[in-house]
Amino acid sequence: MTMEVFREFTFDSAHWLPHVPEDHKCRRVHGHTYRVTLHVTGGIKQPAGWVMDFADLKRIAGPVFDGLDHRLLNDIPGLENPTAENLAVWLWGKLRPALPGLSQVTVRENETSGCSYRGE
Ligand SMILES: [Zn+2]
Repeated sequence: MTMEVFREFTFDSAHWLPHVPEDHKCRRVHGHTYRVTLHVTGGIKQPAGWVMDFADLKRIAGPVFDGLDHRLLNDIPGLENPTAENLAVWLWGKLRPALPGLSQVTVRENETSGCSYRGE
């Protein structure tokens, strides 16, 4: 039996988008409370009865999000153009080596907008 578990993380960061027109509002520095949901797919391990310990997910992923919190994302190597899409791909690359079951990264910039990446 395979199942997908998920955990949500939030952090506050500033960014601006360098490749939009000069008059586009996203060209100006602004902030988001990002919400990222990490999905991990795997078998239900016995006797624990879970795919993985949510605490392990936090232990592995937490430091990556701590490194983004209260930062200007554009200053972080690999995030010079910090769209939600590029952030999802960047997070995948940072997290997948330690989380081989990682199956989806969803990045939300606000209540209504975001993207999901499945490593393809
Ligand atoms: Zn933005």
